[in-house]
Parts: sequence; structure tokens; C-alpha cells
Amino acid sequence: MALRLGRLRRPRRGERFDVAIIGGGPAGLSAAIYAVRFLLKTGVFTENVGGQLNDTDYVDDYPGMGKVRASKLIASFRGHAERYFGVPIYERVHVEKFERVDDVWFRITGRPSLEVYAKTIIMAVGSRRRKLGVPGEREYTGRGVSYCSVCDAPFFDGKDSVVVVGGGDSAFEGALVLSGYVKRVYLVHRRRQFRAKPWYVEAARSKDNIEFVLDSVVDEIKGDGTHVTSVVVRNKVTGAKREIKVDGVFIEIGFEPPAEWFKSLGLEVDERGYIKVDHWMRTNIPGVFAAGDCTDVWIGFRQIVTAAAMGAVAAYSAYNYLAERGLYAPRSDSIGSRG
Ligand code: NAP
Repeated sequence: MALRLGRLRRPRRGERFDVAIIGGGPAGLSAAIYAVRFLLKTGVFTENVGGQLNDTDYVDDYPGMGKVRASKLIASFRGHAERYFGVPIYERVHVEKFERVDDVWFRITGRPSLEVYAKTIIMAVGSRRRKLGVPGEREYTGRGVSYCSVCDAPFFDGKDSVVVVGGGDSAFEGALVLSGYVKRVYLVHRRRQFRAKPWYVEAARSKDNIEFVLDSVVDEIKGDGTHVTSVVVRNKVTGAKREIKVDGVFIEIGFEPPAEWFKSLGLEVDERGYIKVDHWMRTNIPGVFAAGDCTDVWIGFRQIVTAAAMGAVAAYSAYNYLAERGLYAPRSDSIGSRG
């Protein structure tokens, strides 16, 4: 039984769950859908619903959906978990900590005044795209500023020019994809050396419509109030500034998983800070699973469908974990009226 504060759902203090899912993006919501199908009492604890999908405009590569607004896809994931299967989604909840209290239960605490218990945990907290932190970036996000070239390139079909910022695989992959849609792509990178694979660099060099703007940083993103119109780029060596007219700015400067937080919870992370999992989405802590962009799986291919797949596997593993330990107590009420 959940309490409602205003329109926000809140769990009862001390409430107990079979599975607590931390994170409400595609991985978390997919895990929720599968967890209730295993008749597990499930709760989703998340700061927002949709995760990185909130950073994009349209999606046209989620199977079965065709071209769909990202906000509609989020609503669809949410509706499936929450309305169809009755999974409580506790949003604007910031989970700070979990710790084992005995052989069965984890205690999960956070803000505002969160204290619940769960037999298993699925970490699906995603990984934030690194932001540039320049004027205009936030204002024009979703209005010309994108953090996913591969997802959003088709929406710039036929446009005159875009800027891609970064020197890693994502930036090069993005520039190459965009070069098929846009007349001119400027690749702005703060150094002359690239992290990207040489193959990507050579492929980009061979394209007539990709221009390298090196040793340079974006100082400002300008717009007309509704959409991006230009970027101000500064050469770090000469100090010279240049304003480039563009229809879009693709910021591909890497990801930042909250590695220190993961470590403080006792989770093993890889050298980049992602949670280490095996192919059943098991972490180093028995009973704790992870799914989606916070894991060290498929790092070069972060997709909604891959996150959703990992969520489903994590839920299955949580179910197996409970069954193997004699902790599985199927609850017909966990699945609402649709079971
Ligand atoms: P990344 O490898 O961390 O590269 C980030 C790039 O952005 C670097 O060139 C970095 O510059 C630059 N950068 C970082 N912070 C910046 C800032 N504040 N301002 C300006 N530039 C900044 O990230 P990624 O390219 O997103 O790749 C992430 C992982 O996914 C990598 O392991 C990559 O191999 C993988 N990936 C693989 C594929 C593929 O194989 N198909 C495709 C995409 C991604 P510096 O070089 O100066 O640090």
C-alpha cells in the first residue's frame, strides 16, 4: 500500500518489497514489467521517469513503435508498468544508500525520508551524458542541442550544418552518421589527438563534408529563442573566436557514471566507473543486480532496446535468486488486476 503526497506516490516507511528497482529509465521500467510478471512485489524508486530519453526529441529505432516522440515512449513504458501492471513508481526520490541488514533484507534509504526494505535490488540508474556547461546549452536542449547524434541525426535531414563536439568514438560515429543527412558537419575537438578509433578518424577525414575544428572549444550556443542558430568557437592556442552558423549542436563528450557512489555501496566497478555485471546482470553483491547504462555491458552501443533487454534479464535473475534461496513468495496482488 502506497501513500500519496499531493500527486506524488510515496512508500510507507519500512515497507517491504521483493524487488526494489532504483532508476526509472527504460532499463528500470522494463525490469519492473518483468518483475511483476514473476509475481514479485515491486517498487521503482527514481529521480525522474524516462532517464536519458528525456534528452531526446524523437525515437525511430525502438522496435514496433515507428517514429515516436520520446515523451510518448516514456509515457508508454510508464503506462505499461504503472497502470497496466500496477507497479508503484516513486519519483523524485533520491536513493542514497542500501545495506544488508540480514540474510534476507536490504535496507534502502534516501530522500525525502525514504526507508524501505527489499530482498533484491536492481540498479538501473543510467549514466549521465557529460554536459559542456556553456551558455545556451540547457536552454536549447531538445531545440537543436542533442546528446545523441545517432538517435537524432535523421531529424536534421537536409539541414545546412551542424556541430559535433568531442574527439572520441561517439563524436566520430555521430559525425559520420550526420554527414549522411546534413550538408556540412563541423567536428569541434579541444585537442589535435583523438580518443576515437583510427578507423573512425580515417573515415571522417575521407568525407568532404566533415570539417575538423581542432584545438577548439565551444564557448556559447546561440539561438533565436526557439532553436539553435550558431555556436561561438574559440581556438585555445590562438585565442581566435569564430561564430559558425548551425542548425544543431551534438555534444558527444562522454559519460559520467556515479562511480564513487557505486563504490560506497560496495559495488565493483570497471576502470571507467561502470558497475561490473555478468551476463545475468549479477553484480558482485549477491541479491543486487544492475541493468542499462550504469553497467559495463555494451558500452559502445547504448540503446533503449539494449537497456530494456538488460532490465528484463535482471528481473529474471532477481526471481531466480529468490527461488534458489527459498525466498520466493509469489504474490498475486503484486500484479494488479491484469495478471
Ligand atoms: P570518450 O571516449 O570518453 O571521449 C570523450 C571525448 O570528449 C574526448 O575526446 C574528450 O576530450 C572530449 N571531452 C570530454 N569532456 C569534454 C569537455 N568538457 N569539453 C570538450 N571536450 C570534452 O566518450 P565517448 O566517445 O562517448 O565514448 C564512450 C565509450 O563508448 C568509449 O569506450 C567508446 O569507445 C565507446 N563507443 C564505442 C563506439 C563504437 O565502437 N562504435 C561508438 C561510441 C562509443 P579529450 O580526448 O581531450 O579527453
